[in-house]
Amino acid sequence: MTSDWQITEVATGIHFVEGPASNWVILIDGDATALIDCGYPGDWTALTASLAAAGKHPDDVDQLLVTHAHADHIGSAERLRRDHGTEVIACGPEAQHARRTVLHQVTKAEVEAQAADPLVRVWMDHAIAAGGLGDVAVAKVTEVPPGAAIAAAHRPIPHLLPGHTPGHTVYELPEAQVVVVGDGLVSGHAISKHQGPQMLHPMFHTDPLMAERSLERLSALPGEVVLPGHGPAMQCSPAAAVAAVRGTRTLTGAPGRHSSPTPDGQQTAQSAPARSVGSSTTDEVAEVLREWLSSAGVPCEARGRVLQEIACRQASGSRWSSAS
Ligand SMILES: [Zn+2]
Repeated sequence: MTSDWQITEVATGIHFVEGPASNWVILIDGDATALIDCGYPGDWTALTASLAAAGKHPDDVDQLLVTHAHADHIGSAERLRRDHGTEVIACGPEAQHARRTVLHQVTKAEVEAQAADPLVRVWMDHAIAAGGLGDVAVAKVTEVPPGAAIAAAHRPIPHLLPGHTPGHTVYELPEAQVVVVGDGLVSGHAISKHQGPQMLHPMFHTDPLMAERSLERLSALPGEVVLPGHGPAMQCSPAAAVAAVRGTRTLTGAPGRHSSPTPDGQQTAQSAPARSVGSSTTDEVAEVLREWLSSAGVPCEARGRVLQEIACRQASGSRWSSAS
């Protein structure tokens, strides 16, 4: 039987695990062991097998750090906490999301609006089979502030990069020059035909425009390796990953579907109408964005926010690329 996960030690004591549908990271530093994210509830076997491959048992996991509290990232958090004594840590507003006093997750109706796409149906079937609709609330979550190193293996520094969720958190591992970016940007996803740095489909973001703005802060973080919540590891700085996302973004179809980055990060257009956001004026972007919004089945709530933002930017005459 082939394994549906794989583990790579991207730096000493930093093991990146590409799970069946989402990723997690095992941090080992002397006697200290921590996880960043832990997949769907149904990934428990893969999670424990990956820990074993790194020489660890669930009882060894001192902390679980949460990038964001979606079911594909905290699926085993409560089980680790309850049965293995793991402390669950989240930054700022993501703590209440992990406790499920609030919920920021794509709705069934939003997914159904995309169900004509066979990739969405395959993804949805997997999400349901992996326990994505189950209760993943964590009974006790330690809330930490952004910017201060956490007393855990490799001393991760949490940075709030909201948009995907209000408390979406990126973890910087300064000594190893690794940045764990969660779903702030990804390098692949089950419903994307594109490989390489990209944003998730807008329906997955609580606030797609804020997620876009957070890229600016991500690109300022130092690092040589970027570990996403979906897709393979990226051997580049956060700035290069963000540049690749922006360089390959097209708004004439779903994001990133028409072009892909070459290894040196340059854009390779694969179809004629590709247009880069980075060099477009607000009016040009507004035009293609409206076209895309109407054809891509973007949920009403998100569409309203985007159109409002377009109107503001057109009114102020700002360039899209100068978003901050
Ligand atoms: Zn995810």
